[in-house]
Amino acid sequence: MTEPTFTAEFVEEVAEALRGSCETLRAVLDIRGRSTLEDDVEFCRALDDRVFCCEQCSWWHLLEEESTEMPGHCEECAPSEEDDE
Ligand SMILES: [Zn+2]
Repeated sequence: MTEPTFTAEFVEEVAEALRGSCETLRAVLDIRGRSTLEDDVEFCRALDDRVFCCEQCSWWHLLEEESTEMPGHCEECAPSEEDDE
């Protein structure tokens, strides 16, 4: 058995730091001296439940801002039906 290497509070802190920025996860963890968490599956999963990095603009958004039509993209990057010819 291994102890969890992070707390829910830390996940929240990182999610808040990433949200609305275009920082890399690595940079945010580095600042806090926790760069090894980048390879921690449990940590990445917990973070994925809160924020995502848009594939198009590379900015971080809350999960609820993810486009339902184009997963992995924010609503601003996903083409809206009106713009579609
Ligand atoms: Zn985007």
